[in-house]
Amino acid sequence: MKFYNILAVTQAAEWTYSDQGDSWKDVCSSGARQSPINLETDGAEQKSAGAWRFKNYDEEADWQVKNNGHSIVATTNTEMHMISDTFNDDANYKFHSWHIHWGSDTEPGSEHKMDDKQFDAEAHLVHWNTKYDSFDDALKEGDGLAVLGFFIEKESENDVSADHDLDRIINEDVNNNVQSMNANIHPQDKSLMNLFVNNVDTSQFFRYEGSLTTPTCNEAVIWTVFSNPIKIRKETYDKMIKMTKDKDANTLVKNFRNVQDVGDRTITFYTSVSSASSIFGISTVFAFSLLQLL
Ligand SMILES: [Zn+2]
Repeated sequence: MKFYNILAVTQAAEWTYSDQGDSWKDVCSSGARQSPINLETDGAEQKSAGAWRFKNYDEEADWQVKNNGHSIVATTNTEMHMISDTFNDDANYKFHSWHIHWGSDTEPGSEHKMDDKQFDAEAHLVHWNTKYDSFDDALKEGDGLAVLGFFIEKESENDVSADHDLDRIINEDVNNNVQSMNANIHPQDKSLMNLFVNNVDTSQFFRYEGSLTTPTCNEAVIWTVFSNPIKIRKETYDKMIKMTKDKDANTLVKNFRNVQDVGDRTITFYTSVSSASSIFGISTVFAFSLLQLL
């Protein structure tokens, strides 16, 4: 068994995107609820949802953005939470980190597809369920993590030029500063609202039960994927696909996993009664709870 464990550790450290994940082992190949998937509008169960409740997502946070050899990963000390009536048991999910998947100069690179369409890139905001003791404990549970997936699309000539913090953090902060693996920078005063949530209509989204899209592919994720893409400038995308190198010092492109079998899983398409991504403080959450009691 010791030998097996060494192999498992080796895979965790050494995996690459050379075949878009097709050779990954263990749960990655044997699992029954793997991600990403092709999200089909036809056949999805239709439901309505209340407004998203994002606590502290409007805080102008300070970030650490690090090249981990597979993407850039952004973390912060600012504590943020997410609540939605679409989660079971009124689950309260705490923000953990965000990262991005992208393509190349000729191919798109989102992980999920929507009706067989692959978008240019996809951002993932990772959260963990606070009913568990830690992020590591949550990784072992079917509802341990909640990831918000945002499709990203570079603008066409007809679009009004995007002007938001996702463009800025790539163009100004990340630009040429995290090329080598483990390099990190510290962008300041950027909120999750301005980086992601405010840049897209969050009133329509897919929901299904899946996994991490990187080894060890833990089947712990309640996925939310918004159907409307965030638009970024073409120059931002051109910088994104050149912004990092992998462990072998090759420019990291196409850092996405191929779509997986849906199997017998249910895909739900939610339409929110309000597209406003309001920021609810404790008092509002408390009032909401009172309303539920009445
Ligand atoms: Zn991801």
